[in-house]
Amino acid sequence: MAETPKTRLSLETLAISAGYDAAEHQGAAKPPIYMTSTFVYPSAAQAKAVHQAFFDGEVPEKSGKNGFIYARLDHPNLVMAQARIATLDRAEDSALFASGMAAVSTLAQCFLRPGDSVLHSRPIYGGTDMLLHTHMTEMGVHPVGFTDGVDEAHLTQMADAAMARGPLTLIMVESPANPTCAIADIALISRLADRVALAQGRRPIISVDNTFLGPFLQSPLEHGADLCLTSLTKYAGGHSDFMGGSISGPNALVGKLKKLRTLMGNHADPHNCWMLLRSVETMALRTERAVANARTIATFLRDHPKVVRITYLGFLAEGSPERAVYDRQCAAPGSTFSFDVEGGEAGAFRFLDRLRLLRFAVSLGGTETLICHPATTTHYAVPEEARAAVHIGPATMRVSVGIETASDLVADLAQALEAV
Ligand code: PLP
Repeated sequence: MAETPKTRLSLETLAISAGYDAAEHQGAAKPPIYMTSTFVYPSAAQAKAVHQAFFDGEVPEKSGKNGFIYARLDHPNLVMAQARIATLDRAEDSALFASGMAAVSTLAQCFLRPGDSVLHSRPIYGGTDMLLHTHMTEMGVHPVGFTDGVDEAHLTQMADAAMARGPLTLIMVESPANPTCAIADIALISRLADRVALAQGRRPIISVDNTFLGPFLQSPLEHGADLCLTSLTKYAGGHSDFMGGSISGPNALVGKLKKLRTLMGNHADPHNCWMLLRSVETMALRTERAVANARTIATFLRDHPKVVRITYLGFLAEGSPERAVYDRQCAAPGSTFSFDVEGGEAGAFRFLDRLRLLRFAVSLGGTETLICHPATTTHYAVPEEARAAVHIGPATMRVSVGIETASDLVADLAQALEAV
């Protein structure tokens, strides 16, 4: 069980209790939902005080103790859910958003200005890739992708290439990466940021997208990331019935994101925050079961003659640089990975169309097992050469293993592989 130094309670325990005090809510054992868009000021003086608490100073007041103004700025369920996610991410604070992409786009808008460069891992979620290489590029930002997150020489070369285009202000890392599980060495990237600071007089902010593993299997802030970003739609929500995103980190950075969120209006609403509080209570259990199932599924696929490639983290070669980083950074291989079958796109399509139990859909992290074909779905907008460079091919499929009985999943995969 992972222990937090501050409280000595395990993360599993804190996932059930952090951020909610029944005594502050008429003794309700579970969080009520505050379905209101606005809040009545008790007096003119208090109205002034609450506006001062929100707008003055570097960061908005985060506990709601001075009261609330309007739900786009802050609301009681947001305070509860942010406190819980910050605890799980071992951060001072967290900002919650309407989706993972709301978090990603607010991060980019908050810290990048025209003329800046941004260094990012590749592969990276297709939406993030598209944001950086279309909209942010149109805004005058220069994205530079690196394809080997454990190789110091490659990372240095790419950081130099980025700095040649403009001040490097943000490093966006996704590790493990969607969909291939490529690993990036967060501590190494933190040392690289120190060197960039010496070269250009300003240290870039490092954000790590932790969506693939989540807080029980990886804590990016403990390895040198400044910000930990998560699509809560996935493992935290856990049931494919909710959307949300979070960015956790120090008060000063999260406060900036919250201020911009108020202007962009992309906060998490009361119902979604309530859903999240409920869902994270079972996240540790779901994670444990999905990780165990994934090991069984990955072993079956690795040993199947029609499977030609598999990126499951549990199979990283002993002695490889990736394995050394994995051992230091991750507590388990997670439950989403990709694999290739024989026969190119036609083979993959025959296989997908034959599945009965596994559901053919994008997204990941739900109780149900989902499978998709990244080249034609999640990473459709990424140019073919860029996909090919990071092994997202015509026969690549991404599977997010759920919490069903593993043998039922294996049986379905076995019968569908007959169609390949
Ligand atoms: N980051 C990663 C790694 C993802 O896989 C996704 C979505 O699949 C996102 C961010 C975006 O999250 P959302 O779909 O909640 O906007």
